[in-house]
Amino acid sequence: MSVETNRGARSVLVGLIGAGIQGSLSPAMHEREAREQGLACVYRRIDLETLGLDADALPALLEAAERMGYDGLNITYPCKQAVIPLLDELSEDARALGAVNTVLFKDGKRFGFNTDWSGFTRSFQSGLPDVSLARVVQLGAGGAGAAVAHAALGLGAEQLALFDVDHTRASSLAAELQRRFPAAKVTAGGSLPDAMRHATGLIHATPTGMAKLPGMPLPAELLHRDHWVADVVYFPIRTALIEAAQHAGCRTLTGGGMAVYQAVDAFRIFTGVEPNAERMYAHLQALLER
Ligand code: NAD
Repeated sequence: MSVETNRGARSVLVGLIGAGIQGSLSPAMHEREAREQGLACVYRRIDLETLGLDADALPALLEAAERMGYDGLNITYPCKQAVIPLLDELSEDARALGAVNTVLFKDGKRFGFNTDWSGFTRSFQSGLPDVSLARVVQLGAGGAGAAVAHAALGLGAEQLALFDVDHTRASSLAAELQRRFPAAKVTAGGSLPDAMRHATGLIHATPTGMAKLPGMPLPAELLHRDHWVADVVYFPIRTALIEAAQHAGCRTLTGGGMAVYQAVDAFRIFTGVEPNAERMYAHLQALLER
C-alpha cells in the first residue's frame, strides 16, 4: 500500500466507531498526545449503542465522516470485519487478519490497517523480550485472540495451542494460522492441564478478568514459575490472572501495553507524527488508576 500516514497534518479530526464505547480511553490518549506534540486534535466517540444503530449503519457513518473532513477512524466491536468491503486499500496484515481497527482517509481514498497485532507485538517485545516462545498456550480465539495469535507466530512461536470454550472458533482460527505460518505447529483444543504442563508461556485473550467479568480464565494451579503470562485484558490493569501469575513467580505482561501501542501506531497513521510511547503509557496508567 503506497500511503501509510497522514504526513504534515496540523489539526486532526478522528473518532472511534463501535458499540458500547463510552468508557474507551482512546479519546483521552490521542488528544493528550496530540497536545503534547503541538497538534490540535479532536477524537470523537461514534457509539452505535447510544445512536440506536448497528453495524449496518457503517457505510453511512464512514461516508459522513469522510465528507465532514475526518482524517481517520478507529474501528472496534462489532465493525472490524464489516468495514473491510468499504475500504479502497488494506495493509498486508489487515488483509491476512481479516480485521481492521484503523482507517485513514487520504486523497479521496480509504486505507485500512490493523494495529491490534502490531500493538501486542511491540508490547511483548518491550515487556518480555527474552522469553521462550517454543510452546505457547493461548486462551481465547475471538477478535483479540486472532490478532495476538498472529503476533505470537510473527514473533517466532514454534508451537501454539489455542483453547476457546467455543471449540469451532479455536479450530477455525488454528487452521487459518497454520496456513499463514506453515513452519509453526498450531493446534486447537485438547487437554489444557497437559498443554500448560509443557508450555513455556500463556497468552490470555478472553474477556475473563475484566471489571464486569471478574475471575480467573483457568485454574491458578496450572501456573508455575517457569511460565510467562501475557494478558490482553487491561481494565483493570492488574487482573486476577496477573495477580495469580505473579504469586506463582511468573514473569507477566499486562494488557496495558497492547492498548497503548495500538494507539501509538494509530496515532502515527492519523497524524504522520511519531508519538512518544512512554508518555502515552504513563498517561494510560494514570487514567486506569483514576
Ligand atoms: P471476543 O468476544 O471476540 O472473543 C472472546 C473469546 O473468548 C470468545 O471466542 C469466547 O468464546 C472465548 N472465551 C470466553 N471465556 C473463555 C474461557 N474462560 N476460556 C476459553 N475461552 C473463553 O472478544 P475480544 O474482542 O477478543 O476481546 C477479548 C478481551 O480482550 C476483552 O477483555 C477486551 O477488552 C480485550 N482487548 C484488549 C485489547 C488491548 O488493547 N489490550 C484489545 C482488544 C481487546
